[in-house]
Amino acid sequence: MTRLETPVLIVGGGPVGLSTALHLAAQGIDSVLIEKHSTTAQHPKASYFNARTMELLRELGLADEVYATALLAPGVSFYTRLRGYKLGGLDAGDFPDFVNAVLAATAAPGCISSQIVLEALLKKFAEQDAHIKVLFEHEKVALEQDEHGVRTTVRDRQSGEDLVVESAYVIACDGVRSATRQELGHTMIGPPAFGHLINMYIEADLESLVDESEQALYWIATPEAPGVFIGLGGDRRHWCFNTPYFPEKGERPEDFDEARCLAKLHAAMGTATLPIDLLAVGEWVLCGQVVDRYRSDRVFLGGDAAHSNIPTGGFGFNTGMQETHNLAWKLAAVLHGWAPPALLDTYHDERRPVALFNVEKSRENAVNIQETGATLGEPSRDNDEIDRDTDRGQAQRTARASAIARQKSHFLFLGQELGYGYWDSPIVVPDGTRHYVDEHDVEDPVFTYIPNARPGARAPHCMVAPAADPQTTHSILALYDTHFVLLTYGAGGAWATTRREDVLNIPLRSYRIGVAGEPCDLLDVEHRWNALYGIADAGAVLVRPDGHVCWRAFGGPAAHDGVALSDALAIAVGRHVTATRVREED
Ligand SMILES: Cc1cc2nc3c(=O)[nH]c(=O)nc-3n(C[C@H](O)[C@H](O)[C@H](O)COP(=O)(O)OP(=O)(O)OC[C@H]3O[C@@H](n4cnc5c(N)ncnc54)[C@H](O)[C@@H]3O)c2cc1C
Repeated sequence: MTRLETPVLIVGGGPVGLSTALHLAAQGIDSVLIEKHSTTAQHPKASYFNARTMELLRELGLADEVYATALLAPGVSFYTRLRGYKLGGLDAGDFPDFVNAVLAATAAPGCISSQIVLEALLKKFAEQDAHIKVLFEHEKVALEQDEHGVRTTVRDRQSGEDLVVESAYVIACDGVRSATRQELGHTMIGPPAFGHLINMYIEADLESLVDESEQALYWIATPEAPGVFIGLGGDRRHWCFNTPYFPEKGERPEDFDEARCLAKLHAAMGTATLPIDLLAVGEWVLCGQVVDRYRSDRVFLGGDAAHSNIPTGGFGFNTGMQETHNLAWKLAAVLHGWAPPALLDTYHDERRPVALFNVEKSRENAVNIQETGATLGEPSRDNDEIDRDTDRGQAQRTARASAIARQKSHFLFLGQELGYGYWDSPIVVPDGTRHYVDEHDVEDPVFTYIPNARPGARAPHCMVAPAADPQTTHSILALYDTHFVLLTYGAGGAWATTRREDVLNIPLRSYRIGVAGEPCDLLDVEHRWNALYGIADAGAVLVRPDGHVCWRAFGGPAAHDGVALSDALAIAVGRHVTATRVREED
């Protein structure tokens, strides 16, 4: 039997598996990726790639190609049918403060594209990367692990032959029905299914039916075909239409043949004359659940294998891509030998709470959207005449229209995209400051994001330039990749000489921040680094390879009475985790 050896085997070549391989490659780690199908997705699901995802895609060198197919600054509209009554809309442009907050917070705003486009790009990049061996038409059959490694049996679906992949670790990104998760005995936790969805992929000139254009979503309230048209990127011709079906009433996905799908589409459009190309039909169980454990010794779960999100809000893939980015530097640290395996437990500790939050918020969105008459569940009897020219119909439309403003944080959620952090992580050193939501009494933490460098937070974006080359400006986020980064200001510069990284063998780069005329390595081009990073006239901030802050000092070493930098580094790579757990076992 053919044998392959690799540090990491990735099971599943969906968007999370493919991006995981690229995150690992960026850390210098080789992997083998297996995918049972012969091609990437032919039926799009995800369309909204949020700001943090775009930042990570920029880090991987793919962002420009995604933006080239994408639509920015989207809004959403609500109709009874497209050729019916317009109930209202929500447009980012109506919230100029929000738009300004986005532009200040990131150099990579979220955009509407298509999972088909993204997966093809990710695969192309993975195939070009010498660190990654991409094997499509290869299916994981079984795996077994012991203290030395994992042995996975993989079937080549073309030849029918089996091969064995021996790896130090496996990351299972094998989707919502993950066989690996079941094999490991992990359980999904959360409420039962919210509903069932038929997802139709179509090509049609939908925007010829409405007055406005370039909306990301058109929600539909007619009880005959409630749901949502999802725009896929910038071409405005490719759409998904999601509408519920009801197994409890005897409906089955296979009943949605072409004629039935077209009837639903015509009902939602309010016309049967517009030409439609029905490209594919899929089904989806709407479920908001998170796995009990992200790690089982040498096997990790990522993406939909670890959480199923209801698509309202578009957090499924985004959560998945961001979570395996969290895992990649930790695996690299362990495989490169500068962190103990105990660091890998913190993948679960840090990422499960984020998944729980996103899953719960998506469920809330799905419940709240029903107030508008649009639904991915059972249509309300209160909407029975919503698209009729009757007094009752008019009253229903007025009532539903008034609910649209309350959906704001379903569509404008910078706080959720960028405000998450690892506040309670065992590898983050608290600095005594409060979360910005409490500090500033933020009314809606999903809508509002206040950039900050409280330990645990994503280190904020601002533009910088090398002091030696002031014209070459870039986002400070570009510094955060394979090393820890120490940013110092004023007397905080002395921290750079106190570090013991040579002893600790942890890769670290230091930069003195300043403005023109000050001695520094990096110019704070917009003069806002101090405010964003919370440093007044002196201090230092330590940022992990995944761009999250893990320690901060509000002065130089002489004035500091908290955890020292070298201890913070040891904590950040989990060395104290080992010590604590060993003591507990004693
Ligand atoms: C209608 C809809 C709209 C959505 N919109 C958004 C959105 O806007 N934004 C967003 O972030 N998310 C969205 N999502 C969710 C998003 O599509 C998923 O979260 C995403 O596809 C998850 O990626 P994944 O790689 O984890 O899993 P998948 O995409 O399911 O990929 C898993 C892969 O593993 C492979 N596989 C399975 N078993 C094996 C095996 N034994 N051996 C080898 N390969 C195997 C499968 O063939 C598959 O290719 C939406 C979902 C739906 C249904």
